[in-house]
Amino acid sequence: MTSGSAASSGRLLLVATPLGNLGDITVRSLEALRSADAVLCEDTRRTGLLFKLLGITAPLQPYHAHNEHAVLTRVVEQIRNGRTVVLVSDAGTPGVSDPGFLLVRALLEQGLEVDVLPGPTALIPALLLSGFPCDRFVFEGFLPLKKGRKTRIESLRSESRTVILYESPHRILRTLGELKTALGPERRACLARELTKLHQETLRLPLGELEAACAQRPPKGEMVLVIEGAKARPDAMESRENEEDA
Ligand code: SAM
Repeated sequence: MTSGSAASSGRLLLVATPLGNLGDITVRSLEALRSADAVLCEDTRRTGLLFKLLGITAPLQPYHAHNEHAVLTRVVEQIRNGRTVVLVSDAGTPGVSDPGFLLVRALLEQGLEVDVLPGPTALIPALLLSGFPCDRFVFEGFLPLKKGRKTRIESLRSESRTVILYESPHRILRTLGELKTALGPERRACLARELTKLHQETLRLPLGELEAACAQRPPKGEMVLVIEGAKARPDAMESRENEEDA
């Protein structure tokens, strides 16, 4: 264990922030946010509110897919001048299903230092709450909206690892319907909603029943869908054993 300061100069620090419960901010993250020269965030109003609650006054700069190039030029200059620039997302770990990785990649390509202060992210608590195997899993993030959506969903049919998807309340019903058709209504799933917040809820049901439950009472808020991996078919296992014996 080290007790080094989270914020030394001349680098980009990716800092995870709470999904909902403020108590989930880490000591190192607080220290880094307090001493940052600049903080890049997706939504300055949302992060501004978090900073107010945490008593942080570091200057905020918006960073999203549309101003990525302009921000990159400025950040490279700031880091070359010995500044510590922090990247946060609206909630959780920056770079997970948001454009943060583009900045990381660009800075690494320029030989600049990047570090991460780990902390909250939605996929891990959802995975653990599902009760499905956690030793091997695949994080699919958001499914494509149009192009490639059907192929992606069909590829999950034979996926033997636990599958984790991010989804929005507007699309969850459509996604559950498409998954039920492709994977079968009996495939077990878990919808973890509003993690770490007051109305946290976990629904563990087969896809067919989960779709019906969500049709009856549309789920609100942020959600993660976890799907049990495909069971190996006995005939497939047999032929693999034969191959191994040969
Ligand atoms: N950076 C975030 C992370 O580390 O998990 C993910 C950002 S992604 C743009 C937003 C998605 O994360 C939401 O649509 C939802 O699927 C998931 N998410 C974020 N907060 C959540 C929460 N409190 N409960 C459940 N899912 C959440």
